[in-house]
Amino acid sequence: MYPNGLPNWSDADWVSRFDETHAILESTAMNEGRIVGIDLGTTNSLVGAMDSGFPLLFPNSEGRRLTPSVVAYPEDGVVQVGSPARRRLALEPATTLYSTKRFIGRSHSDLQASETQVRYPLVPSGSTVAVPVRGQRVGMETVASAVLSQLKTDAEKILQEPVSRAVVTVPAYFNDAQRNATKRAGEAAGLQVVRILNEPTAAALAFGVQHSLKEGWIAVYDLGGGTFDISILKVSAGVFEVKATCGNTCLGGDDIDARIVERLTAELFAQQSSAALDSLVQARLGEEAERVKILLSEQATATVQLPFAGNSHFQRELSRGELEALALPVVERTRKPCFRALSDAGILASQLDRLILVGGQSRMPLVRRLAVEIFGREPDTGCNPDEAVALGAVLQAGILEGSVREAVLLDVTPLSLGIETFGGLMNVIIPRNTAIPAKAGELFTNAVDGQRSMQVSILQGERELAKDNWKLGELQIGFAPCPRGTARVGVQFQIDENGILRVLARDTKTGGEQVLDITAVVDVEDARVEEMVAASVEHALEDMGARRMTELRLKSQHMIGSARAVLSLSLALLEEGEQERIISAITALEKACNEAPEPVIKSACAQLDEVTRPLAQRLLDAAYEKALEAQGVL
Ligand code: ADP
Ligand code: MG
Repeated sequence: MYPNGLPNWSDADWVSRFDETHAILESTAMNEGRIVGIDLGTTNSLVGAMDSGFPLLFPNSEGRRLTPSVVAYPEDGVVQVGSPARRRLALEPATTLYSTKRFIGRSHSDLQASETQVRYPLVPSGSTVAVPVRGQRVGMETVASAVLSQLKTDAEKILQEPVSRAVVTVPAYFNDAQRNATKRAGEAAGLQVVRILNEPTAAALAFGVQHSLKEGWIAVYDLGGGTFDISILKVSAGVFEVKATCGNTCLGGDDIDARIVERLTAELFAQQSSAALDSLVQARLGEEAERVKILLSEQATATVQLPFAGNSHFQRELSRGELEALALPVVERTRKPCFRALSDAGILASQLDRLILVGGQSRMPLVRRLAVEIFGREPDTGCNPDEAVALGAVLQAGILEGSVREAVLLDVTPLSLGIETFGGLMNVIIPRNTAIPAKAGELFTNAVDGQRSMQVSILQGERELAKDNWKLGELQIGFAPCPRGTARVGVQFQIDENGILRVLARDTKTGGEQVLDITAVVDVEDARVEEMVAASVEHALEDMGARRMTELRLKSQHMIGSARAVLSLSLALLEEGEQERIISAITALEKACNEAPEPVIKSACAQLDEVTRPLAQRLLDAAYEKALEAQGVL
């Protein structure tokens, strides 16, 4: 059972589990209150929450579920968000901010020329980007926070209760800086962002993929207003993992609108050579182009109508065929990134199990046809493409609040994390398949008198014995020398959404602490995870036997220590032959621990317990009498 022999117990540096106290330093349980799900989109944003077991998206004050991600800073100082702001776009381009999600958490020098083609000026601001507005600098987080704050208000109106926590989605390719900036924007809006969720994962969740697909590949093709993202996800045991992402942060429905506007403008000029295209007409042209484009997803023809454009009315029939001819070059640009993503993920289109189309622009039949052609399969249906991401965020919120009870696993720890305790055992702190971010801790004490420090070995794996798991790192925490079992060291594990494990060891008496960050605890190769889990199943019986044995030996050691202490304390109380009986029971137990099988150790324990019990009782009685005497009762 112990191929390498027993670990050396008397090694003063081992951590011992403090059996009575499994105190959690900080509760992992979430505090009460509703969690909303938010799709903070480049073009449009949505908010919702679980209601009586159903994911619901909330209408805003205009009765629409989609709120344009546009924030206007008008002269009167009253910031506007959503449709009212969007209406100002053409009139006050310099102070009406749209598509700002492209810039959040990024530095000015990182921006590509194509990305900065917006109608408002962009300037560097520290390590980020800002827009100068009436002598002030408006940062991208501030803009995002204005949108989030509006969504919060709209949600509170529907729910009739304050909302303070949210799940917010971000593109899968967002880096730490972009994710953190999104989180801070939430906090500035009074929303604690309890989870940042990848948009493609959210969409897959909304399409209910986890019900029917436990293992396989999914492509999420997301064509929005201003961005195109293609993500290849892998599902294994119900866990989603983004394997590859590609796309274009400057490609979307807006480009199709622009092509329609271009065509209409040319015609308008041809019709009335002196047409004065003021900004108002231009704005109406843009709106009309989008309106007609959307109509043409459902019908074969639609009429463009611009009363009082220039110096007369403008009216024109547009067919789906014409629209498609205009849109084709734009839509074609999504093809290459798709192939790129497939190749990065290392799979062929024919290996895909699901194809999910999201983003409002993917409702266009031309887009669907192209996607079918690229991936060689029909897309999955059953969800509104422009609401899927938001619905996924709501479902994730439901999972976190516990209102969605199905075991849907998202971004989870692939293997258990813990520390090595006295006797060479694995003490799990965060079990396998815990949703991240996660936080948990336990209190430990010293195993040996006069111990000055504890060595905390951080382990990952499913095996009962420390040596069979992977060692990720270690820290040493010092404390004042004290008798066995009196030190109090809290060990806390915290994994953030990026899969970074922070281990904190704190001497609770002095507050002295040590911190260690370990990366890549979540991102473990599938093959290694499978190997570890298979090994733990294969060795389950012997591992459990080994753990029981170690625990039994620890208990024996403890009993022997106590028995010796009692003996030396109470020589005066000993009865005839009692000392000999106890010493022989101790020797028998020591011997059993070294070589005997489990039942023999157990009976030796029971024997020692039996011979010491009368003495222990007498000791107690004596102490009791002494206490009464001291109080003057006797
Ligand atoms: P984002 O994720 O970038 O915030 P959305 O998913 O809301 O964007 O997509 C917005 C884009 O989808 C806009 O360009 C809009 O015109 C377009 N769109 C919305 N509905 C339709 C439709 N039925 N047919 C074609 N395009 C549509
Ligand atoms: Mg979107």
